[in-house]
Amino acid sequence: MNKQIQPYHYNFIRKQAHILLQAHLSVNDKNTIKTLQAVVLEKINAQFGNKYEEFQPLLTGFLEAATSKPRLEQYLEGVKEAVIPFDPPSKQQLTKLFKKTKKLKIPDWETLDLRDYTFYSWNDSGKQQKFIVATIDGQFVGVQGSISPTVQKGICPICHETSEVALFMSKVKESGDGMYTKRGNYICYDSDRCNHNIERRAELEDFIKNVAFTR
Ligand SMILES: [Zn+2]
Repeated sequence: MNKQIQPYHYNFIRKQAHILLQAHLSVNDKNTIKTLQAVVLEKINAQFGNKYEEFQPLLTGFLEAATSKPRLEQYLEGVKEAVIPFDPPSKQQLTKLFKKTKKLKIPDWETLDLRDYTFYSWNDSGKQQKFIVATIDGQFVGVQGSISPTVQKGICPICHETSEVALFMSKVKESGDGMYTKRGNYICYDSDRCNHNIERRAELEDFIKNVAFTR
């Protein structure tokens, strides 16, 4: 299958499929199921936007797959084949993104399934620091800040799910005068979870722009 969807598209399909599966397991009324199927398909197509026709082959077998857990898992494995993996920065690019950090922990990209990542982020728990790498308009952007070790339940502004969030404080350089302001946001402590949940890029980009760029 051609690589054609983003990791967050995959998450969207997976979550919608699980909504349908849940309904199949708990609702007996055929009409209710039919209505829900239509709603779910419409949501997925809306998510694909103007590429919706191109993505139709991916939805072949979707409704049947969402009737049982083993079928669904098999179907999702197939869909995953079409996911474009996160393109990681080289070591050189990464050190440039975080040039003020001594002993930067370099992620071991080889051991990761990069199809799981819309962005990449890791915690250096010894330093209580979080590092985030994302692409905005085709350029790598790196954001670094302190991450509180205490978590609480809250809605993460990146993935928009209720999860275990922690206070992330980043320094943002204000225009021209070399002054910094601090911005604090409660975001997922575990960024692998965050990547598992994320269904759109817009909020990620807003977040990165807000914490990374001068205004
Ligand atoms: Zn999150």
